[in-house]
Amino acid sequence: MSEIYDVIVIGAGPAGYPAAIRAGQNKLKVACVDEWQNFDGTYAFGGTCLNAGCIPSKALLESSELFQRAKEEFSVHGIKIGDLKLDLAAMQKRRASIVKTMTGGITALFKANGVVGIQGHGRLLPGNRVLVTGKDGAEKTLAAKHVVLASGSVPIRLKNVPHDGKFIVDSWNALEFDAVPARLGVIGAGVIGLELGSVWRRLGSEVTVIEALDTFLPIADQTIAKEALRHFKKQGLDIKLGAKVSSAKVANAKVEGATAAGAHATAVDVVYTDAQGEHTLQVDKLVVAVGRKPFTAGLLAEGTGVSLDDRGFIKVDDHCRTGVANVWAVGDVVRGPMLAHKGKEEGVMVADLIAGHFAEVNYKVIPSVIYTQPEIAWVGQTEEGVKASGRAYKVGTFPFAASGRARAMEAAQGMAKIVSAQDDDEVLGIHVIGPMAGELIGEAVLAMEYSASTEDIQRTMHAHPTLSEAIHEAALAVDKKAIDSINR
Ligand SMILES: Cc1cc2nc3c(=O)[nH]c(=O)nc-3n(C[C@H](O)[C@H](O)[C@H](O)COP(=O)(O)OP(=O)(O)OC[C@H]3O[C@@H](n4cnc5c(N)ncnc54)[C@H](O)[C@@H]3O)c2cc1C
Repeated sequence: MSEIYDVIVIGAGPAGYPAAIRAGQNKLKVACVDEWQNFDGTYAFGGTCLNAGCIPSKALLESSELFQRAKEEFSVHGIKIGDLKLDLAAMQKRRASIVKTMTGGITALFKANGVVGIQGHGRLLPGNRVLVTGKDGAEKTLAAKHVVLASGSVPIRLKNVPHDGKFIVDSWNALEFDAVPARLGVIGAGVIGLELGSVWRRLGSEVTVIEALDTFLPIADQTIAKEALRHFKKQGLDIKLGAKVSSAKVANAKVEGATAAGAHATAVDVVYTDAQGEHTLQVDKLVVAVGRKPFTAGLLAEGTGVSLDDRGFIKVDDHCRTGVANVWAVGDVVRGPMLAHKGKEEGVMVADLIAGHFAEVNYKVIPSVIYTQPEIAWVGQTEEGVKASGRAYKVGTFPFAASGRARAMEAAQGMAKIVSAQDDDEVLGIHVIGPMAGELIGEAVLAMEYSASTEDIQRTMHAHPTLSEAIHEAALAVDKKAIDSINR
């Protein structure tokens, strides 16, 4: 006799666990099945985001930024420190402890919301049953009125760049290095490649980022992307655009300057081609960060009727219905940007729809953040996108160089930019590169969620001196009414 639930969620990442929690809040009988195991074989809820993505990367970005600032910025503030030393083991211990606290928190949230957390592999069987297989091979079958698939994504691997987890690694391995690689190669100048490259550059690595596209950050507004590229190059990130990696292999390399016979170390030879021809780059570690793909291995038994598109995503409609009665799918495993907050909103929406409530996700207003220094964040359309749509538009920018708060923070780099419609003044996109851009974008998201006009932001009082004044001033600049910078 199988256990019967109202809802079974497969996957406890940022899409699955909120779905389960909201289902519990909606007084539904709910179980959440997750198979994530850490390198040491322990189970943990939280998926990629909490265990190997958003949270550990932000922990290391914060620590490495403090190290960098202590090295280069403290003296500007009149703070003198002696011999600055890096204790990477302590930094990594802090990262691991934050992850443990956060993943442990999900167990507590499940308990508080009546969610039965089950650790093991979940497989959807026809008729809304789920076969759960534990680490020890023990099996049990659960049944539910509704099943939510939230199995997430995994890193894309390159055929000629064989992953070994030690020298040729993925983003998860790169968050757990126990020594700073002298020379680090990163394939891919996307969000993950730039964040990881920044961490290890700040901690002392010589970092080369190899990107196949000629355009830097094509998903971002190009005014912002150009400004970002300038800063990253100044920080010593060697970003090679239009460079295609054809192969990489682990090789024994002579240790530079060593005289002793046999003084060799393992390194990675990376072969890439750009407009100048073929090159070989030698690095100590190579991170492959070329994107992620939906993960559905072992998820769907024969005959469930759930279908995948040609890129492997589970097909869903705007409300995350798979087309099979009472089977839903959310998060990275379905179309749309692979972002934790997008998955979370989908998970919550589905749990509310199952309970018979009204719910929807506004896919037009999804914020993006890149946690580099300076930080980059945006919501809505880029200037290039609006131009291509043919709609007449106006633009306002405000440089952080004119912000008293940014100056006080020694972070007066970058700008806020607003793109608005010429006809009805609607805000179409807000883009920020600068200090705390990821926090500032919250105001922009709220404004766009409520279909704000530029004038709405212009007439909203912003505290002084705060970084948020940059958004206010950029809105004023749209109509050449900026007070604290020269209108152009
Ligand atoms: C280095 C890095 C940094 C990132 N930083 C950010 C960031 O700052 N902000 C942001 O928004 N996003 C970030 N992301 C992306 C973010 O992690 C993902 O968008 C998010 O985790 C997707 O959530 P999900 O729940 O759909 O999938 P996942 O988080 O991948 O979770 C899926 C879960 O389902 C489990 N699972 C899969 N199949 C089964 C099965 N058959 N049975 C049982 N369990 C199963 C998996 O083990 C996993 O635990 C980052 C990603 C990486 C790699």
